[in-house]
Amino acid sequence: MRAAVLHHPAPIASHPLAIEDVPVPEPGPGQVLLKVEACAVCRTDLHITAGELKPLHDPITPGHQIVARVEKPGAEVGSIRGGERVGVSWLGGVDGSCPLCRKNRENLCDHPTYTGYSVNGGYAEYAVARADFLIPLPEDKPATDLAPLLCAGIIGFRSLRVAEIAAGDRVGLFGFGASAHLAIDVLKSWNCEVYVSTRGASHQKLARELGATWVGDATERPPVELDSAVTFAPSGDVVLAALASLRKGGIVAINAIHLDRIPQFDYDSLLWGERQLRSVANMTRQDGRDFVALAAQIGIRPRTTVFALDQVNEALAAVANDAIDGAAVVIP
Ligand SMILES: [Zn+2]
Ligand SMILES: [Zn+2]
Repeated sequence: MRAAVLHHPAPIASHPLAIEDVPVPEPGPGQVLLKVEACAVCRTDLHITAGELKPLHDPITPGHQIVARVEKPGAEVGSIRGGERVGVSWLGGVDGSCPLCRKNRENLCDHPTYTGYSVNGGYAEYAVARADFLIPLPEDKPATDLAPLLCAGIIGFRSLRVAEIAAGDRVGLFGFGASAHLAIDVLKSWNCEVYVSTRGASHQKLARELGATWVGDATERPPVELDSAVTFAPSGDVVLAALASLRKGGIVAINAIHLDRIPQFDYDSLLWGERQLRSVANMTRQDGRDFVALAAQIGIRPRTTVFALDQVNEALAAVANDAIDGAAVVIP
């Protein structure tokens, strides 16, 4: 099969992924072999490919927003027979036994498997995944519409949960890329007022089209105090801008696996008053299944730009440069 392989992390502009012919993997016990229909690009893929996240598996095929069909079930996979349409996300497995798994917080497992980071992912014709971490997908949607839901969408949805957003709240979205442009549909369905601060005229235009109440520049303060905010940009300055926009008791959820730094800030004016700063780490299977079901119910349709597997480096570069609106999706 053909697969995009990372041997040495390097700057995205240097095209670090090589398209190679490699053996089709064999599913072990509890695993399935998947035929990949599409795999969307996540910002985390950029951090893996560029080496900002330290390599866990060398070489590695990245990609963790996989829409696929079960090609061949391994042993001990329950009722899976083959042919099922399924999704695979970033959380590819947990140990089920560590203190955090036992507290129902599997997103924080001490021994996790990360798709496309600690095991090979979806920028390939075939992939292997754990059967108990598959997300059932509807048959009536194109793969390119489903793939961006599987990390950008799920983590965006989890961020809204971490920010404890209630129906009708005033919510800030700081950054408006693949994740935020799906989260806004969820917020609209909850009758929230959405205030978007983002760089780039085209991201600002998209936010207006998708129903934002107000749109401003990347660190611009919305005209009203917010109940909560989610930041998507990998920038500590943006986190502080979000914090500065909160009313008392508000929460900022940071949806970023990597930040440049957090600048020093004034406690008295920014955090006092039981304002909270929280990070959002990974997702649980329940987040994934809940979000995919909600997306089908409210008809979330991502904006996508499609790339062939041969152009996977160009797809990553497009996301790195904010050159496209919505999500980039790779088709093997
Ligand atoms: Zn991701
Ligand atoms: Zn665990």
